[in-house]
Amino acid sequence: MADRKFGRVVAIEQVRHDTRLLHLELEKPATIDFVGGQYVIVHTKAEIEPGKVAKGTFTIISSEAQPGQMTLAIKQIDSGPCTTWLNNSVNVGDRLGYSGPWGAKNYDHAVGEVDALFLATDTGINTTIGFLNSKNAAACLSRARVLWLLPARDYFLDIDYVRNSLPENVRSRFRVELISDISTPPRVDQALKLVEEELTNLQPRFALLSGDGDVLGPVQQLLTDRGFGSAVTMEPYFNKPDKKDDSKKNFVRASQPELAPQPLRKQPQE
Ligand SMILES: Cc1cc2nc3c(=O)[nH]c(=O)nc-3n(C[C@H](O)[C@H](O)[C@H](O)COP(=O)(O)OP(=O)(O)OC[C@H]3O[C@@H](n4cnc5c(N)ncnc54)[C@H](O)[C@@H]3O)c2cc1C
Repeated sequence: MADRKFGRVVAIEQVRHDTRLLHLELEKPATIDFVGGQYVIVHTKAEIEPGKVAKGTFTIISSEAQPGQMTLAIKQIDSGPCTTWLNNSVNVGDRLGYSGPWGAKNYDHAVGEVDALFLATDTGINTTIGFLNSKNAAACLSRARVLWLLPARDYFLDIDYVRNSLPENVRSRFRVELISDISTPPRVDQALKLVEEELTNLQPRFALLSGDGDVLGPVQQLLTDRGFGSAVTMEPYFNKPDKKDDSKKNFVRASQPELAPQPLRKQPQE
């Protein structure tokens, strides 16, 4: 089926072997009306079964003020069909179909002049970049702190690139810390300790958490326990709470028993 919406790839920056920035000029329609923090679903040509191609969710990190362009920062995840195709098979001049923007319910409101905490793990930093550059974030910038947790300095985008992508008056409150690999037990505890440290510097009335759902759930619980839970937006990119299998639930429980979020359970039918 022909893509209803598409853009043309006009530049590619290969940041490292598994990470690239794709810059698109939008063609149909010629602009995208989005709010910073929102994402699109990109259609690939990687066939995952006969007649079905891989699609993936990617956050727009370019500015709302340039609606004719779209920049996506993409990390290839192992041999995942969508990210492998986007990292290896897309060239300058290619057409890329997409749907969206999506995610309006989370981002379509302005944050006031309040202390605000932005916690991102791994590739989740893209939501922070997108949202902080949005006009909806303008009032909180002077009181915003950003904490980016990742397993290695070369895991995704360059740290300097990320710092320079944040609004200028936030850059001095941008902190990067290394934590253990995804799905390894100390990760959640390390993240909680670092968030606790951040809470000595601010009393967030707004928080945006994005990235690893295994980390975000316990952090959300921590914020709730401290009385900061009412305006927390969570954007899990992976390890989504509702998609965990039993072993994942056990991992979170064992690592942080009193803070683990309770999985939603269906009530048994009478
Ligand atoms: C709202 C949202 C916004 C996103 N924005 C971005 C973005 O801007 N840039 C970006 O690179 N990715 C982003 N992602 C993640 C991206 O959508 C997935 O990495 C991609 O769809 C994987 O597709 P695949 O076919 O390559 O791999 P799949 O076959 O779908 O397999 C990927 C598997 O790897 C796991 N996984 C392990 N580590 C990671 C990790 N660090 N990230 C993702 N999955 C991991 C996943 O749980 C999943 O099981 C976003 C996801 C969401 C939900």
